[in-house]
Amino acid sequence: MKFYAQLYTMKSHRQIKAYIRKRNFFPIIALVILSAIYGCNNTNSSKIVSEEATPGQKLSKTKVVTTFLPVYLFTKAVTKDVAEVDILVKPGTEVHEYQGTPANIKAIATANVVIKNGLGLEEFLSDTIKNAGNSQLIEIDISKGIEPINKISPIDKPVKGEHDHEHTFGNPHIWLDPVLAKQQIINIRDCLIIADPGNKANYQTNAATYIQKLDNLNNEFQQTMKKTPNCTFITFHDAFPYLAKRYNLKQVAVVEIPEKQLSPTDVQKVVNTVKKYKTKAVFSEPGLDNKLLTSISQDLQLTVRTLDSLETGDTNPEYYFQAMKTNLESLASGCK
Ligand SMILES: [Zn+2]
Repeated sequence: MKFYAQLYTMKSHRQIKAYIRKRNFFPIIALVILSAIYGCNNTNSSKIVSEEATPGQKLSKTKVVTTFLPVYLFTKAVTKDVAEVDILVKPGTEVHEYQGTPANIKAIATANVVIKNGLGLEEFLSDTIKNAGNSQLIEIDISKGIEPINKISPIDKPVKGEHDHEHTFGNPHIWLDPVLAKQQIINIRDCLIIADPGNKANYQTNAATYIQKLDNLNNEFQQTMKKTPNCTFITFHDAFPYLAKRYNLKQVAVVEIPEKQLSPTDVQKVVNTVKKYKTKAVFSEPGLDNKLLTSISQDLQLTVRTLDSLETGDTNPEYYFQAMKTNLESLASGCK
């Protein structure tokens, strides 16, 4: 176990590779070690490598299956057209309580790689993978290296009911923090390079371009949100604790898992929360029926605005930046 311990303390890909070279590990063993470290797992190590094509040889594209929208957007940003990328939970379908379908099983059965957000969000996936019986599959968890937030503070505990759902692995909404999104891009890039080394240069270039945009987005958030430190806002989906933490804001989620329609209880919680904390803003989500909330928001002297958790939306990788910039505008005007 000693060399694993040493490997885990090494910071960079290069350091680890140099160490593996020095120790004279066989390439396959080295790849398995690299895979384990970067969150890429598969049961058949000999299939990890899809070797570079010899001149004149045309290899078919690596088939990558992603779980839901943010994972699809990030993967597509890294692959562009060099890999075939599919999505299991189609936009418009709720991911939190999703059940795998026969079409999902079929997609995984013929895939080379499956990529998930992780942190317990894709509860349907392990059974779906099992049913697909694809022993060659490489599984990538892109929450690797990210420290989860287990409880947001403060949270108004949801009433026990069908939507009650414990995040046993921590809160999964890491993609809504541009800095953590960057780590997710790095995880995708490094695992795809291991799975499909022939396209290494493409993955590196594409990831670098997207990371640059994420850096710019982070700067924009920092510049704007530093004007309203500690702004406390209410949401109806416990999706923004990472974003709040990053930019020194406070999220109070009165509902944990998104609902189609707000109940009188939810709205009562808003009233209580506004009384309890100095709340600046209330954020609904696109597609949420919040008539009840709108009707009482005047009494509360709050304007209801929208924050997008990006669990559904457009499949163009640029959509992430569009939606996040709209979120920034919403937060800035809500917190003013
Ligand atoms: Zn969510």
